[in-house]
Amino acid sequence: MECARKTMLKFPLWCPACGRHAHYAPGVAACECSAAFDPGVAPRGTDGNPGDGIWRHRDAVGSLPREISIGEGATPMVPIDHGGQKIHLKLEFLSPTGSYKDRGAAYSLSLLASLGAESVTEDSSGNAGAAYAAFAAALGLRCTVFVPRGAPPQKIEAIRRYGATIHEVAEGREAAHRLARSRADYAGHSWAAPFLTGVGTLADEIVEQCGGKAPGEIIFPVGQGGLLYAVHLGFRRLLARGRIRSLPALTGVQAQNCAPLYWAAHLAAGALPRIRPKLTAADAAAIERPVRWMRVLQAVAESGGQWLTVGEEEISVARDSLLEMGYDVEPTSALPWAIALRRIRTKEGLKPYTVIPLTGSGWKSRGAKSA
Ligand SMILES: [Zn+2]
Repeated sequence: MECARKTMLKFPLWCPACGRHAHYAPGVAACECSAAFDPGVAPRGTDGNPGDGIWRHRDAVGSLPREISIGEGATPMVPIDHGGQKIHLKLEFLSPTGSYKDRGAAYSLSLLASLGAESVTEDSSGNAGAAYAAFAAALGLRCTVFVPRGAPPQKIEAIRRYGATIHEVAEGREAAHRLARSRADYAGHSWAAPFLTGVGTLADEIVEQCGGKAPGEIIFPVGQGGLLYAVHLGFRRLLARGRIRSLPALTGVQAQNCAPLYWAAHLAAGALPRIRPKLTAADAAAIERPVRWMRVLQAVAESGGQWLTVGEEEISVARDSLLEMGYDVEPTSALPWAIALRRIRTKEGLKPYTVIPLTGSGWKSRGAKSA
């Protein structure tokens, strides 16, 4: 019976670049046209009972033969008053491995296990690798993570603790990706469409915590843009099903030292500019060529959001400001708070009901509060 369920399970994919439809399989990263796939409607089995973690949101995740939750998602949203502005902080760093990536790993790895996979390969500079390693451990899958050299040692150590095999790649992030992708069990989070399905549950949760409505604006730190894009897909789904009446503005924030999406939006040349990235404390957002860059740009434009950048000094000040409020997040996660502080300082103000996800814990990052 279990075998029959495994073979019948199909996770639908479609390619927005060429319109092709397909089904997800481990090791198949991209469409034949070389673009990344987007997820279709998540399959629904016979068990539609509410579960734990991301599985509470059946509308988003459907159901799978093998579902695992280790307590991902269901994070608090805390209203704060800062500089006369009301802001809602969504504490994603409280997930079991310390980042929102647990949502995507919970779905992706449950799907892989349901399809009969026994191992998984990922490439990551830290947070997604830790999430994959933890969920693989909980599901009994072997996990291999290719990590670019230079990733924070605390993040590498977190991956190691869950028992994953680590390959450090001296040539950097692109080379780590190529090596991971050459393996038959590659299911890396940047390319795998099911990862977006899990992360999209953040939209359901924000609507729940906003009293059944979409917020005015959500401000995201952006590297790949996977979080922003998954939440965009989530809100589009909620709008199509009549659960909300409007889409929130989605604003993307990049580090000035590595801001390809910001420049693509401002140059409006229909291409991703070649940038010369400099080192940034926001290491988790230092992505030169985001996989779904065009779709992320379209999501921000469609929502009426903005693209903004933040300098290294502002990142440091924002992280310190969050620490002073009791929130220990990694520097990357301070990018949107830097924008909130800037809007308060310049008296531009924030939109009614602004949400800022605090995406990653400070426990896996370098550095203490400055001065
Ligand atoms: Zn295609």
